[in-house]
Amino acid sequence: MRVAVVTGPGEVDLREEPTPVADLDEVVVEVGATGLCTMERRLFLGIKKIYPVAPGHEVAGRVVEVGDAVAGLPGVPQVGDTVTVDLLTRCGACTACRRGRSSLCKQPQGGELSDGTLSFGAGLADYVTVKAKQAYGTGSARIEHAAMGEPLACVAHSLRLGGLRAGDRVAVVGAGYMGRLHLALARQAGAASCGLIDLSPERLAEGLEAGAAWAAIPSEALEAGGKQDLVFVTAGAQGVLEAALKMCDDGGTIVLYGAFPKDVAATVSPDYLHHHEVTLLGAYSQEPEDWTQAAALIASGRIAEDLDALVTARFPLEDVGKAFDLAANSPVYRVLVG
Ligand SMILES: [Zn+2]
Ligand SMILES: [Zn+2]
Repeated sequence: MRVAVVTGPGEVDLREEPTPVADLDEVVVEVGATGLCTMERRLFLGIKKIYPVAPGHEVAGRVVEVGDAVAGLPGVPQVGDTVTVDLLTRCGACTACRRGRSSLCKQPQGGELSDGTLSFGAGLADYVTVKAKQAYGTGSARIEHAAMGEPLACVAHSLRLGGLRAGDRVAVVGAGYMGRLHLALARQAGAASCGLIDLSPERLAEGLEAGAAWAAIPSEALEAGGKQDLVFVTAGAQGVLEAALKMCDDGGTIVLYGAFPKDVAATVSPDYLHHHEVTLLGAYSQEPEDWTQAAALIASGRIAEDLDALVTARFPLEDVGKAFDLAANSPVYRVLVG
């Protein structure tokens, strides 16, 4: 089978790799579509210099083989089912996993191709194998939607940690792909309103079309949206945390979802957090219950329109280089391969 390997900045090769066979507790999935995420972009642009590497962790496809130990069990996807797959290592044994926080599993992530090449998912390929418990059925949903399972699970995790409840006033900083998924899920969860904050007028206009209650550039956000119960930061930059604190009402929560540049620092008054009962928290990655929720939402079709609007382009695996080029060098929501 073929698998895409990034060999240097701007360079992607398709290599041959033995077609996988299911272990006892695994399924083999014929890849239908794989999304290009920030990590893939950073590898291609040479910002993250780890070469050669086989990336691709936002994978969906059709089950072609089920391991003997799990085949036929209730809940296990069967041959022919469309699934979205969780490719993270969750050792189950470390302190984080034992507390149910497997998003922070301490076992190093990543595997190897047959020739020893480092793999971060290796989902830009004809097939992937995964533990059956990490393959989630998506019913008759479009394969492009199923391939959004991983980022949706991350956003479900963000909403869960933030404690979003129906009736909450919500603001999302950043109207890119992750911001828009926050908008879609916040609306599904019954937010009283969900506004978007971004520098790009195009993205703000597209966000309004997608159902944002209001959309504003950062300097006008407080006036446009007023105080908020929850502020999700999906675009980290200098000054963003301070601005989020100004928007956050008493008793509110700020969720730091997106990565910040490492050199960004913020000044926060501990006494302000105390007196106003403001919660500041980080949300990173996802856990099995977030996957269950994300896959169910995809399968339900209830956010199909939201997800359709976020498919920028889809390329066949042989054009994986073109897909990387588009994803890395233009403003896109999601570029898919497969
Ligand atoms: Zn991702
Ligand atoms: Zn672990």
